[in-house]
Amino acid sequence: MGLNSSNERVKQVLIVNLSIMKTLSCRDAGCTCDYDAKGETEGDVLRDAAQHGMKEHEKKGNDMTQIRDNLKASIRTS
Ligand SMILES: [Zn+2]
Repeated sequence: MGLNSSNERVKQVLIVNLSIMKTLSCRDAGCTCDYDAKGETEGDVLRDAAQHGMKEHEKKGNDMTQIRDNLKASIRTS
């Protein structure tokens, strides 16, 4: 069973367990969808959220910059 795991997979599991994930739910940002932006740092989460906002909610880069502080305040660490 476990013997079939490749080193690569073991490494990934270790990384996931060691890192603290930050999440930002799109709903907390005022939208109605269930998307969760995730990342290891605030910057990663905000980048993910910005990409999602621009792609799915037709936000502009400027819009995302304006609400950046609000988004930051809504980030949860798990
Ligand atoms: Zn969304």
